[in-house]
Amino acid sequence: MIGRLPQSIEEVVASHLCLGCGACAHVAPDQLAMHDVTEVGRRPLPIAAVNGRVAGEALAVCPGRELAHEPDALTGAPLRGEWGPVLALYECWSTDPDVRYRGSSGGVTTTLAAHAVSSGRATGALQVQADPLDPLRNVTVRNTTYASITGAAGSRYAPASPCERLDLVEEADGRTVFVGKPCDVAAVRRVAAIRPALRDKLDITIAIFCAGTPSTAATEMLVRELGTDPDDVVSVDYRGEGWPGSFRVRSRSGDVRSMSYAESWGGTLTKHRQWRCLICPDHTGEFADLSVGDPWYREVGPGEAGRSLVVVRTEAGRDALLAALADGSLAGGEVPLDLLPRSQPNLADTRGAVWGRVLTMRLMGLAAPSYRRMPALRLWWRLPLRGKITSIGGTYRRARLRGLRQPEVSSV
Ligand SMILES: Cc1cc2nc3c(=O)[nH]c(=O)nc-3n(C[C@H](O)[C@H](O)[C@H](O)COP(=O)(O)OP(=O)(O)OC[C@H]3O[C@@H](n4cnc5c(N)ncnc54)[C@H](O)[C@@H]3O)c2cc1C
Repeated sequence: MIGRLPQSIEEVVASHLCLGCGACAHVAPDQLAMHDVTEVGRRPLPIAAVNGRVAGEALAVCPGRELAHEPDALTGAPLRGEWGPVLALYECWSTDPDVRYRGSSGGVTTTLAAHAVSSGRATGALQVQADPLDPLRNVTVRNTTYASITGAAGSRYAPASPCERLDLVEEADGRTVFVGKPCDVAAVRRVAAIRPALRDKLDITIAIFCAGTPSTAATEMLVRELGTDPDDVVSVDYRGEGWPGSFRVRSRSGDVRSMSYAESWGGTLTKHRQWRCLICPDHTGEFADLSVGDPWYREVGPGEAGRSLVVVRTEAGRDALLAALADGSLAGGEVPLDLLPRSQPNLADTRGAVWGRVLTMRLMGLAAPSYRRMPALRLWWRLPLRGKITSIGGTYRRARLRGLRQPEVSSV
């Protein structure tokens, strides 16, 4: 393989390959701590007393450096090209109207997490939610009650490091459902592979579909665009209150301002995603037991009640989904697999562009991630000529002009 893999966590960060999941800080808590770098994302920074570079287990669990599927025979589910392992596809929604209303699509992720606890299969759910002390940022919490789990409903389009609190899973009585982005779930799988303490305490993993994490600075920009001072904010919601929902900011005075999802994501957030997300092949949570996304093949209309598309990737995931449907926590049913590509119409082109970008990084001698059993070359070939050129030319320009060779965090 041409190109090189980073050989330390510091090199992962310096090479713009960090996803901010926090897994390295979990396995090396004496060496690394996660910090929110406002313009970039959450990053593992060395604890002052550490001498030398951090590698070993911290590097082994890093999903920014490497993603690899097992062969079909080991996973038990057929690998379906750019969609990863897929057993079945469902379209569902929460039967709790409040959760469905506050959830990003159909509130299914939240309901699956809550059902694991109410059914007695697990005793908690590790989730990301708004930091009550700093509402523009996120915290990771192990919620244990229906009210607290459903209180975390809603996608947060801002940096979050759920894996940095895997200690809460390892130390809890009983099992824990893990909810995160595709990269977070990929990291959990890698940590569980080397730490029985986690493997024995993990219930199912649920991934939300993800096209990339915008920086905290992007949220600040949206808040200012709405004419609100970021220091005056008491809550920020990115989705919810219908589908696809709106971006809403509440200030100390009680004033609430909002803009549509299309304006917030399409106008600002998408332009401020970290580089590593732009070279990520996994937007649909390929390493999860269940992954949940928006059914974009549906008509978006005012007051539309949300539905979620659920990809069943393992038998454990299928059992959890069927149990929640059987006891009426979820409604909905199985749908044909061809709805999956229609739900994310840009994904095939995006993954093709990822192949071109990673190739360019390697040819330029930059550190680049390794992806195994995650095919993308065919998708690159299918791109129009302009798309092929942009994937290579854009990466070349970015590397030369916009500092892919410069460290993204000055203190590392
Ligand atoms: C950065 C980002 C990018 C996204 N890109 C896509 C996309 O390309 N296509 C698509 O279909 N959908 C995307 N989504 C939306 C998400 O996949 C949908 O919300 C999904 O359908 C789940 O909806 P739900 O109603 O079932 O989830 P909900 O019931 O609302 O639950 C959401 C769960 O996700 C957790 N969570 C929220 N934000 C984060 C975070 N930043 N990191 C880790 N966990 C979090 C919460 O703790 C909660 O448990 C994105 C979301 C985010 C945060």
